[in-house]
Amino acid sequence: MPRYRCAACGNLTRFDVVTTRRTRAFHHYTVGGELQVEDEELLDEQVESVTCRWCDPGGSVELVSDDAVEPDGERT
Ligand SMILES: [Zn+2]
Repeated sequence: MPRYRCAACGNLTRFDVVTTRRTRAFHHYTVGGELQVEDEELLDEQVESVTCRWCDPGGSVELVSDDAVEPDGERT
């Protein structure tokens, strides 16, 4: 999964993420009509928007790679 960072407040942990997913799944019904979804397969995933939970919508969320996140600060 991608990591995000809010440039406005430095938040690394709380985001609202809006995602569109296309999936294919095996819908398995019992004779009684009860549905069990099996073998769900992700065909496509599109992240539409990411907003900072604290600044929303004034934040400025950017994508960071895992190794760019340091517990004691930011690598330059
Ligand atoms: Zn923020």
